[in-house]
Amino acid sequence: MNEGLLVILSGFSGSGKGTLMKRLLEKYDNYALSVSATTRSPRPGEKDGVDYFYKTDEEFQNMIKNDEFLEYACYVNHSYGTPSAYVDEQLAGGKDVILEIEIQGALKVKAKRPDTVLIFVTPPNAQELERRLTGRGTETAEVIAQRMARAVEESGSMALYDYILVNDDLEVCTDELHALIQSQHSQSSHQ
Ligand code: 5GP
Repeated sequence: MNEGLLVILSGFSGSGKGTLMKRLLEKYDNYALSVSATTRSPRPGEKDGVDYFYKTDEEFQNMIKNDEFLEYACYVNHSYGTPSAYVDEQLAGGKDVILEIEIQGALKVKAKRPDTVLIFVTPPNAQELERRLTGRGTETAEVIAQRMARAVEESGSMALYDYILVNDDLEVCTDELHALIQSQHSQSSHQ
């Protein structure tokens, strides 16, 4: 069986990438979603083991010591990391594995595994980004401002990605994402 592809989706907080990923998994087979560990608290409605594995700082540090992460990074005062065991297992089973992670982590994975496909998801414009962040209603004004500032910083790194996807309409964007990943499969089988 062929190994699956490792695909990284990054995007500004509020780009809609989380919803996009969930829709991709509902609509198409053969994708596995990596669940990250984080030290941030769950948002209302989020579940441990589904959205994230919620860890204390100490637990997260132990996971680093035990070399359990494919990558990890800090984002607006909290740590986030991708446990490697699940990713490797799913790739070996032929699944395409999607990681939804921020830029520093994405570039670390690309350096380790150059065949990783890096996709950056962006809302159509800055007003829409702010509207989505505010509309979520779960973050304080201060956190929203920090996340907007981080988005400005991150926009400089978009050029390091293999593809940039504009998320205006969820269904259209989901189909585009699927088509893009499938096209990478046919490229790698022709190499
Ligand atoms: P949020 O707190 O909004 O769920 O996530 C904040 C940021 O952390 C997002 O950009 C998300 O993609 C990123 N993130 C989530 N999990 C991971 C991870 O395992 N590693 C890295 N490097 N970033 C992550």
